[in-house]
This record gives sequence, structure tokens and C-alpha cells, in this order.
Amino acid sequence: MILSLEVKARVVLEREHFQQLLDVLRDKGYQVVGPTVRDHAIVYDTVTAVADLPIGYTDEQDGGSYRLKKRADEALFGYAVGPHSWKQFLHPPVIRLWQARREGRSLQLVPEHHEAPRLAFLAVRSCELHAIEIQDRVFLRAGYTDPTYQARRGNICIIALNCGQAGGTCFCTSMQTGPNVEAGFDLALTEVLEADHHAFVIAIGTELGAAIVRALPYQEASAHDLQVAAHIVANTAQHMGRSMDTTEIKDVLYRNLEHPRWNEVATRCLTCGNCTMVCPTCFCTTVEDVTDLAGERAERWRTWDSCYTMDFSYIYGGSIRSSTKARYRQWLTHKVASWMDQFGTSGCVGCGRCITWCPVGIDITEEVRAIRESDGASTRAAKEQ
Ligand code: SF4
Ligand code: SF4
Repeated sequence: MILSLEVKARVVLEREHFQQLLDVLRDKGYQVVGPTVRDHAIVYDTVTAVADLPIGYTDEQDGGSYRLKKRADEALFGYAVGPHSWKQFLHPPVIRLWQARREGRSLQLVPEHHEAPRLAFLAVRSCELHAIEIQDRVFLRAGYTDPTYQARRGNICIIALNCGQAGGTCFCTSMQTGPNVEAGFDLALTEVLEADHHAFVIAIGTELGAAIVRALPYQEASAHDLQVAAHIVANTAQHMGRSMDTTEIKDVLYRNLEHPRWNEVATRCLTCGNCTMVCPTCFCTTVEDVTDLAGERAERWRTWDSCYTMDFSYIYGGSIRSSTKARYRQWLTHKVASWMDQFGTSGCVGCGRCITWCPVGIDITEEVRAIRESDGASTRAAKEQ
């Protein structure tokens, strides 16, 4: 064991000591949230013991398809991302914004006090860290700060994970968001599974991370450990299930707003909004006011909404995106084009959730490819007119 630990140091924790990482996080006052198996999927929930993790599970993902399978080994994190993202903990699906109570002839407004739980996120992938960074730009922008998000965001510890395998719908390499974890973490793990050795190479990202590691029975990482860990991530990068050519993607989409492909995808899209619910960057909400029958009390609630609902774009007299074509086009062009104008980055991190969890298997990479492939022809035709 080495005696001094600094940010950027790399250490090794043997698998048999992994429970101690969970215990140290708990002792520091954190509720650990991480991957668990429920309803035939890997979802994020409270983790108190190693046995809560999806030991020996992997997933098979494709357009509209997700299956859990047993692996041949006892990997703790041998799967890709599931239907849950971390946004549910930072940007909750339902919150009450305020209450009003009648007091005689006046109304008393009662602001809501939102607790910010002290959470440790366990096994946050690189694409997910980028998604959190993207939501930071939305919710923490000066002048438009969301107090709920701000309080929760300031209270988390992030234990990131370098991906040991890519999912069937992953394309983070295309979006430059993974699979190697580079920033935004307290600790970053790489799970090393060899024939006779199961351990975690850990990179320390912050002073908090260093304090956590100091309480663990770690060893200094050798050159061999670092080489093996680097090879694991490089191998993952070589096996992405999907890809997307992002060259001038904004311009390609903007000049094809009337492309026939939008009509074609509209014949398949159910406007169910699944893609927006599972997307780790989608942030839209609506508010609803409710009152009791006696008129003594009213409440305002904020809930996640989706650009696929008719009500979402309802402006006096009707919805401005009444067709399926208009709503799908809004979602896709916002995600990978106008998001750049708005926030300075793409709104897509290539996690693949919208592909896997679309009930009819609509694939954002295929839709962009179809438009790009005929872009040259449509641009030439436009010039000739
Ligand atoms: S693209 Fe798929 S998931 Fe998204 S609204 Fe259409 S049918 Fe639903
Ligand atoms: S648009 Fe799809 S692939 Fe991109 S971040 Fe959202 S869910 Fe993931």
C-alpha cells in the first residue's frame, strides 16, 4: 500500500474488497445508487451490498429489443446502459413546485423545500457523464438556474466506469463522448477480469475520491495494470453497435427539413415519447395546477413532458406540431442540430437508449444516414432550380 494519494493517482482494488467501497461511501453519508436487476432489465436503484449488483449479467440490445443474459463470468458491470439514466435523480420526473392555501379572504403561498439527497452514483458511463454535463448547461445557466437540479447536483459523488463492452445500440465514439471516462468524476473504475484475477483499476478524480480510496485496502497500480485497463477501453471503442457520421450534421439536417424521409419515418413512429423519456439529455417539462373540491387549497406540479405530445406545442388555438412528421423532425433536429445553436454542444451522447427502447425500432443513426445519403442529390437539385 502507498502512503500518499493524489488526484490523478491510479490504484487497484481487488474484487474481494469491493464491498468496502460501498461501506466507505455509506460511512461518508452517501446513499449508493447503482445498477440492479429488476423486471428483466438493469435499472438504477439503492445498492447496499455487492449482491445487489447485476453479477454475471449482460444485455443484448438492438432496435426495439433488450434482453438480459447470463455471462460466463462473474463480472459486476458486464453490461451496457439500460432504460434508466441518472437524470431521474437530478431532474426528478415529478415534483411539487408550490402550494397555496386559502386564509380567510386571502391566499397564502407555501414554497416547496426540496431535499437534496446525498447520493453516490455507482458505475456512471462516459456517455452518461457527458449527458450530465449537457444537463448542467440547461439547468445551471446563469439567470435560469433550476434550484432543484442545482441542490441535487451539488450533493452527489460520482463513481464512474470505463466500459468493458459496448452495447448493440451504442455509438459514443461517433459523438466523442466515450467510452473512456476523462473528466467529471470522483473515482473512475475499470473492471479487470482475467482467468485468475478479478480487480478494479481506479483513477482518482477529486480530493473526495482520494479520501474514499484512503479508507480502502488498495495497491498501487502497476504498469501492467494500467496497460490492461487501457486495452479494455480501446477494445470497447472498436466494437460499437452503431455509428453516426456527424460531419456538418447541423447543415445537412437544416437543408433537408422537407426531405421525404420525414414522411417515411412518420408512418412508423407512434409518437409514444419513449425516446424522450429514456434519453439522458431530454429535459422538457410541463406544469399542472390542481385544486381541492372545496377551493381551500391549490398545488402546482412539474412533470417530465415530451415534444411528441400534442399538448407540448399547444399555443392558443392549437398545436403547432400537429403531425407525427413535424414532431419526429423536431426531436431529431433539436437533438443533433439546433441543440448546438442553443447550448453549444450536440444534445446526443450516443448512448443508444432511444433506439433500444423505441417500440418500433426507429434508429436515430439510420434516420440521419438516410438523409445524409441523399443530401448531395437534394442539394444539387436545389441549386439547379
Ligand atoms: S421514435 Fe419510437 S420511441 Fe420515439 S416517439 Fe416514435 S415510436 Fe415512440
Ligand atoms: S438521442 Fe438517443 S442516443 Fe442520443 S443521447 Fe438521447 S437516447 Fe441516447
